[in-house]
Amino acid sequence: DEETKANLANSKSGLLQGFREPELDDNLGYFIKKKLRVWCRLHNVPWQSGQIQSTSGEKASVRLLDESVVTVPTQDLLPANPDILEGVDDLIQLSYLNEPSVLHNLQYRYSRDIVYSKAGPVLVAVNPFKDVQLYGNDFVTAYRQNLLDSPHVYALADTAYNEMMTDGINQSIIISGESGAGKTETAKIAMQYLAALGGGSGGIESEVLLTSCLLEAFGNAKTARNNNSSRFGKLIEIHFTAAGKICGAKIQTFLLEKSRVVQLAQGERSYHIFYQLCAGAPDGLRGRLRLKRASDYSYLNQSDCLTIHDVDDAQKFHMLMDAFNTTRICKDDQEHAFEMLAAVLWLGNISFLVIDNENHIEVVADEAVTNAAGLIGCGIQDLMLALSTHSIQAGKDKVAKNLTLQQAIDTRDSLAKFIYASLFDWLVEKINLSLAMGKQHTGRSISILDIYGFESFKKNSFEQFCINYANERLQQHFNRHLFKLEQEGYELDGIDWTKIDFEDNQDCLDLFEKRPLGLISLLDEESNFPKATNLTLTTKLKQHLKGNHRFKGERDGAFTVRHYAGEVLYDTGEFLEKNRDLLHSEIIQLLSSCTSQLSQLFASMLKQPQKPASSPIQVGMPACQKQSVATKFKDQLFKLMQQLESTTPHFIRCIKPNNKHIPGMFDKNLVLEQLRCCGVLEVVRIARSGYPTRMTHQEFTRRYGFLLPENHTCQDPLSTSVAILQQFDILPEMYQVGYTKLYFRTGQIGSLENVRKQV
Ligand code: ATP
Ligand code: MG
Repeated sequence: DEETKANLANSKSGLLQGFREPELDDNLGYFIKKKLRVWCRLHNVPWQSGQIQSTSGEKASVRLLDESVVTVPTQDLLPANPDILEGVDDLIQLSYLNEPSVLHNLQYRYSRDIVYSKAGPVLVAVNPFKDVQLYGNDFVTAYRQNLLDSPHVYALADTAYNEMMTDGINQSIIISGESGAGKTETAKIAMQYLAALGGGSGGIESEVLLTSCLLEAFGNAKTARNNNSSRFGKLIEIHFTAAGKICGAKIQTFLLEKSRVVQLAQGERSYHIFYQLCAGAPDGLRGRLRLKRASDYSYLNQSDCLTIHDVDDAQKFHMLMDAFNTTRICKDDQEHAFEMLAAVLWLGNISFLVIDNENHIEVVADEAVTNAAGLIGCGIQDLMLALSTHSIQAGKDKVAKNLTLQQAIDTRDSLAKFIYASLFDWLVEKINLSLAMGKQHTGRSISILDIYGFESFKKNSFEQFCINYANERLQQHFNRHLFKLEQEGYELDGIDWTKIDFEDNQDCLDLFEKRPLGLISLLDEESNFPKATNLTLTTKLKQHLKGNHRFKGERDGAFTVRHYAGEVLYDTGEFLEKNRDLLHSEIIQLLSSCTSQLSQLFASMLKQPQKPASSPIQVGMPACQKQSVATKFKDQLFKLMQQLESTTPHFIRCIKPNNKHIPGMFDKNLVLEQLRCCGVLEVVRIARSGYPTRMTHQEFTRRYGFLLPENHTCQDPLSTSVAILQQFDILPEMYQVGYTKLYFRTGQIGSLENVRKQV
């Protein structure tokens, strides 16, 4: 080893023309001296490109592109990249990786309809909001045959497929980004590619593609941010035969937004399926479901938004029916599903009459309650009773007590939400059965994760709390793979690699997960107290989490979490109810006594209570004790992470270039914010400062050993490697010698290859 060190020291002296990288000088002095191009920060406008004219003291005068000359403090200047690097495929090829340079590169490409770029190992996809000529069979073939190598979802899917086939290791494609950034479209594009490669085993691949249509009808809705917004997370695991053909798939879903079934914000819609059914159901079905128009249902008409521009719901319904039939969900099952949907709509129209001054109520006996009861398969009176009373234990007897108006509305709505969420889970189960039918599973798979990105709104509730927690987990997975493994690899191989700090978010995960004093545990504990309010919850959180630098208690029942992507203020207003997600025992009994198959099935899913041992029984409001929503989600997430840990991950970061959903518009501030949130800027920095190319000493000596003089004595591969490096005077800062491998900075192997060709 002494010898190796001596060799390394020696090699530092040699310099050979041709192996020099362009001088990487982030020092502005150099730029000023050479009057190079710079980025110039002006008041209130994004970075402008310009050329330094002259400097005096701390100020520089810069000629901008429009020929105007401005004088700015030199601290408001950053170096720009030379023209030759304009629009490079991979951001890490840029010599200067400052924010304006990265943004400029993405915008340059975007304006030419090149929506994909790399950031080291990560694929960045900027939503074009229009059809771009980048997809279809010709492109699939071109990427398959390596005729094209520009960054693309196809290229990434191809890599995943090849790695699965050659190494036998399962793969995952992890797609993230904010609402409307293009995650779901990207997932479909990846699936199309895999279906094209792995097609040919009896049409199963087209069945896999069609599942998107079903899932989107039941799980997507028009929101303020996206006309086709997925209101659930999904992991689709595509299974392959040993020959690389698709032989089945399995879908897992996460955290469907139930509240949307009963409550809508202005201008938003409920789930597509309701409008599709109302618009497209044929007469026979309409009659059996007592179906009216969407505008006749309170759950749908409350938001003054019944249609989506350019979308024909009736036509979508027919496409849905085709998809239903292809996935072999039988006619009976389809009919049952539609009955449940219509039942939900009719439940929403049930109204109440206040009967005394304590605000106690009765259910209005109209067509709404008649139809709802008929569709879920129970007696009208039974339904009316379940929606208007609850029984309390008085000594040995049970006494029925009338509900107040608010309690009755909540009971009705929780029944509607329960039916819809159960229907969604049931549908996913049916699809899975259909996709797994009689197929031999070899264990080879590629999983695609399409999950909501980090969310921070003016008002953030329980949903954002769960979503952002999930994103902390995914971010850690991302960090671990890209940075930790990278560093550990270097260290294991004895490389002197100055550690690069990256923001580790383990402490934020601890804040959520620690027991008994983490956010989720404390929330669960408080959820078990019937008398608890959001104020007692906040007090409890403040009391136990005071001093945690990721947490800050706020006034009026709110708290702030310092997430990896920024601070989020949570309003605890509905945290307890949403976390408990209770269904009265009256309602459960009602459902289990129904004649309809699905009602019974849904009720039986609730009958296996996983009751926490210590939770006090709720007095007065008997309800089915079950796992809290947050804990259930946490468990699901753990399972997901375990699954992902056993795969080789490929990351896609989707970026929304503007909030108006229009093509061609690139809002730099909006993009920058997203690049920060999803860690792209960090990846670029790390990748650039590392050694992305690596080769074992054996590989290296085998390839370049002949370049040594004839009389070179035979040595072990490590020493031979070092001798080759010296012979060719590669700058010492351009490589590192490990125990097993050589590590190179970008561009180095290219130079060696040139020499090799010339010999
Ligand atoms: P959410 O989190 O709300 O589900 P998302 O990230 O899944 O959002 P998508 O539904 O995939 O977003 O995309 C939103 C819209 O952007 C699409 O309906 C489509 O109009 C457009 N879009 C996305 N990707 C592409 C693409 N590659 N080509 C053309 N249009 C696209
Ligand atoms: Mg989506």
